[in-house]
Amino acid sequence: MNPIVYAIPVFMMTVLLEAWVAHRKGKAIYDIPDAITSLHHGVLSQITGAFTKIVAFAIYVAVYENYRATQWPTDQLWLWVLALILYDFLYYWFHRMGHEVNLIWASHVVHHSSEYYNLSTALRQTSTGFLFAWIFYLPLAILGVPPVMVATVALIDLLYQYWVHTELIGRLGFLDRLLVTPSNHRVHHGQNDYCIDKNYGGIFIIWDRLFGTFAEEREGEKIYYGIRKPLRSFNPVWGNLHYYVDLWNAALKLKGWRAKLGIWLAPPAGWTLEPIEHFEPEKFERFTAKISLSLRGYVLLQYAVLVPFIMHFLASVDKLSVVQSGLYALAIAVGTFSLGGVLEGTAWSRRLEIVRVFGLGIVFVALENWFGFVAPLPLKIVFLLTCLLSGGWFLFISRNIKTPAVQEKIA
Ligand SMILES: [Zn+2]
Ligand SMILES: [Zn+2]
Repeated sequence: MNPIVYAIPVFMMTVLLEAWVAHRKGKAIYDIPDAITSLHHGVLSQITGAFTKIVAFAIYVAVYENYRATQWPTDQLWLWVLALILYDFLYYWFHRMGHEVNLIWASHVVHHSSEYYNLSTALRQTSTGFLFAWIFYLPLAILGVPPVMVATVALIDLLYQYWVHTELIGRLGFLDRLLVTPSNHRVHHGQNDYCIDKNYGGIFIIWDRLFGTFAEEREGEKIYYGIRKPLRSFNPVWGNLHYYVDLWNAALKLKGWRAKLGIWLAPPAGWTLEPIEHFEPEKFERFTAKISLSLRGYVLLQYAVLVPFIMHFLASVDKLSVVQSGLYALAIAVGTFSLGGVLEGTAWSRRLEIVRVFGLGIVFVALENWFGFVAPLPLKIVFLLTCLLSGGWFLFISRNIKTPAVQEKIA
């Protein structure tokens, strides 16, 4: 069973808790369109991961079976700790290359595209990480770290990084020097000049201190989150593709094969020793959308409806045929795409969302077996009513859906 299935309720509850605490403290660290977009990216990432992780894992196992120098026993705790430290070291380099090589940045940029910083930002994960990540961990296979061990420490490394995405926890003294903490990961997400290409660590910040990429959070200098060329979209599919498209277009314009290929390996700022362009906070405007309270409520409700489906998909994908899992994944992905369009106030998304929400209700009730799940009649009735009533509500509240997205100054 995919352990993320168990983590999802914890993620949802802690996001709500953080939003509530921030609200009580009068801190505007959440924006519903932004947070939902982050969660949608997380959904797409999990769905694509369900299809691709198996390939990365198979490659690891093949290298481990054929080329390992030795074999680590799994009954000694210190070896598990060592595996975690080694994994984190390799994660540092993978993450660093994710910022210093265009092709890998195109994948990792997803995680940085939110201009807010909260627990939902942690879930804004890429859907194309499978393209490169596995390469960086193959040294562990050669060293003889068993697949079960590497899968476990990879999960620990990933889950650890969740809690550091918050503005509610301040400096933590000596922990900030040893571990990746909210303070030094805030720096990693910053656009301020001093934040660029700093603090790549996963669990341990010592790698940054060793390899010269550490920066301490500056007191009295507000951090502006996000990327220098802002995403300005709530569409999670575009959120995953925009930088690949930028690179493709830039490559087309360049003359000569060397330049055309070289741009994919160049750093995002280009092959230059010049310092990165100065960031001017006065000019920075955060992206959001002035959508009505009722549409916000609708999108939140539909996301809540989507969550059990995602959990069921992740829990049952192994038992489904390729066609079934592909269809199920598509149904969920269309949900994130459609709701993203609703947040952007596009006319096409209104039509798509109407078809989606009514269609989902009808198909769920009509099918005797929903991808391996036989729903009891009361659940079918409740679900159908939810879809019909919320669909009717949506028809009413989305009459004037054209809501232009806006840029807002941060006080
Ligand atoms: Zn990063
Ligand atoms: Zn992060």
